Amino acid sequence: MYENTELCAECKGECCKVFPGLCIPTDFGRLANRRGRIKKALQSGRYCLERSAVNRWLMVRPAVIGYERVLIDGKHDGNAECTFLRGTGCELSAGKRPYDCRTLEPVISRRGRKFCKDHGMSQDKQIRRWQPYQQMLREIVAEIEAAPSAN
Ligand code: SF4
Ligand code: SF4
Repeated sequence: MYENTELCAECKGECCKVFPGLCIPTDFGRLANRRGRIKKALQSGRYCLERSAVNRWLMVRPAVIGYERVLIDGKHDGNAECTFLRGTGCELSAGKRPYDCRTLEPVISRRGRKFCKDHGMSQDKQIRRWQPYQQMLREIVAEIEAAPSAN
């Protein structure tokens, strides 16, 4: 996990304004509890499902502001601010952030420029992590859609 609160505060969440970071299945705890935690996250409206552009697999990520409670969100226009971004930075504690966010390291180059070094696995590998969960995610979608709305 990488954190540089000073640099992130200065930058005011540049990365979080473009698109929320992707989660991987282990972000939702141990295998035995994972299904329940994913469902709870999706029911909260703060997380949603995203379809991979490559193979249409479903993956979980935080919702985009204004799109909370859209279960399968297709917003991808580069202006998709994460629901967890606050004026003071990310609302989630560092360890609770999505994999994509935890593996980004804000650093200053020798020339004094800020850049963010990605220590995570490739996007492709992150997408593959969701492969065994496709059936489970489809079932969760069906369960949430069938449940009476709380609103
Ligand atoms: S990780 Fe990088 S781009 Fe994102 S808020 Fe921090 S410094 Fe800015
Ligand atoms: S979860 Fe936090 S760190 Fe990740 S994109 Fe959202 S606001 Fe940024």
